[in-house]
Amino acid sequence: MRRKTRQIRIGNVLVGGDAPVVVQSMTTTYTRDVKSTVEQIHRLQDVGCEIVRVAVPEMEDAVVLGEIKKQIRIPLVADIHYNPELAMEAIRQGVDKVRINPGNLLEGRTSFERIVRAAKERDIAMRIGVNSGSIDALDKQAQMQRIQVRLRADGTLEKTDPAEARRIERERLAERMVNKALEYIGWCEELDYHNVIVSLKSSTVLTAVEAYRRFAERSDYPLHLGITEAGTLVTGAVKSAVGMTMLLADGIGDTLRVSLSAEPEEEIPVAYEILKALELRNRGVTFVSCPSCGRVEIDVIGVANEVEKRLSKVSTPIHVAVMGCVVNGPGESRDADVGLAGGKGKGVIFRKGKVVRTVPEDQFLDAVLKEVASLLPEHEARLVYPEGGIQDITYTHRTRDEGMNLPLAARN
Ligand code: SF4
Repeated sequence: MRRKTRQIRIGNVLVGGDAPVVVQSMTTTYTRDVKSTVEQIHRLQDVGCEIVRVAVPEMEDAVVLGEIKKQIRIPLVADIHYNPELAMEAIRQGVDKVRINPGNLLEGRTSFERIVRAAKERDIAMRIGVNSGSIDALDKQAQMQRIQVRLRADGTLEKTDPAEARRIERERLAERMVNKALEYIGWCEELDYHNVIVSLKSSTVLTAVEAYRRFAERSDYPLHLGITEAGTLVTGAVKSAVGMTMLLADGIGDTLRVSLSAEPEEEIPVAYEILKALELRNRGVTFVSCPSCGRVEIDVIGVANEVEKRLSKVSTPIHVAVMGCVVNGPGESRDADVGLAGGKGKGVIFRKGKVVRTVPEDQFLDAVLKEVASLLPEHEARLVYPEGGIQDITYTHRTRDEGMNLPLAARN
C-alpha cells in the first residue's frame, strides 16, 4: 500500500496522492549551453524521463531557463545552491519547480522566504532538499562516530561495537535531517505555501532509508527518493535499488531519481526496472534473458543486449524473452509476448505463447524485433523495426560444439 501523501503539481505532472511514482533525472551539460542541454533533455524524454532538473550555478545559467523550457515537453526544475538571486531569476524564467537546500542559502531564512513568496505567486512547486552532508556541516558537533579503540591499563584493547555505534549515529543523523526538513516546512506553512516536496538524501543507503522512514511517520508531504552520489552504473544502480526498494515496498516515495556517474539517459531504465519489479509502474519492455551457461547454443548475451538496446524507446508495456537453450527457453519464451528460444545454430520464435517459426541465427534480431513491432502502436513499431528489416547484426555465431572446438566428425 502506498503511503497517502498530499498531492502537488509540478508543471503538468502530478506527484503524490494517488499519482504513479514519477521518474526524473538531471542533466550533465552546462545549462547555459542551451543546445546541448535541450538535446540531452530530448534524449531523456525519449526513454521515459518525466521531470528534468538542471544545475543553475551562475546567473548565465539562470537566464536561459525560459529558452530551454520552450523547447522541451517535460517539467523543468532549477537546482539552486547558495545564491537566492538565482532562484528568483529561475522563477522569473518560468521553471516549474525550484530545488532548494535552505541550510546553504546565503542569508538563510530571509532569502528562503523571498523564494517561497515568489514560488507561491507563480504557483510553482519547491523541493526542500536536505542532505546528510549539509546537516553535518550545520551541526559541527555531529561527527559520525568511528570505531573507538582504547588501550586499557592492563594492556588489552577496549573496543566499542562499530555496528552498534554506526546504528546509533545513523539514527541521530536521520533525526536531525527530519527535524530540519520539518522546520523548513514550518517556514513555508507560515507563509501559507504548501506546494512542497521533500528529499532526505545521503550517500549512505541506511541513513537515507532511516531518514525517509522517520519523515513518513511525521508528515504527509510527498517524498522525492534518492541515494545521492550513489556511484557508477553498477554500484549506483545497486545502491539505489536497495535503498529505494526498502522504502517503496513500505509504500514510501512519490518520485525518484537514480543518481549515477553515467549518462543521465542510463538512470531512467534503472528507475523503471525498480518500479516494474515492485509492480508500481508498467512501462516499456519487461525483459527476460538467461545469463547463459555451459549449455548455451547461441550468443545469448550478444542477442539479449542488442534486443534490449533497440527496444529502449518503447513505452508500451510488453514482455520479451531471449533464452539460450531448450532447458528454460521454451517455457520462458511461451510466457512472454515475444520470445526466442535458442537451439543449435537456430532459434524458435514465440508470439503470445505460440510458435511462429524457426529461424537461423543471422535472423534472430530481425525475427524478434519484427514480432515485437507487430504488437506495438505504429509510431513505436517504426522505431523498432525499420522498413527493409534489420541488416546490421552485432552478435556473434556460437554453438556448443564449435565453442568446445570439437572436430567436425564428433559434432551432433
Ligand atoms: S536457458 Fe539454457 S543456456 Fe540459458 S542459463 Fe538456462 S540452461 Fe543455460
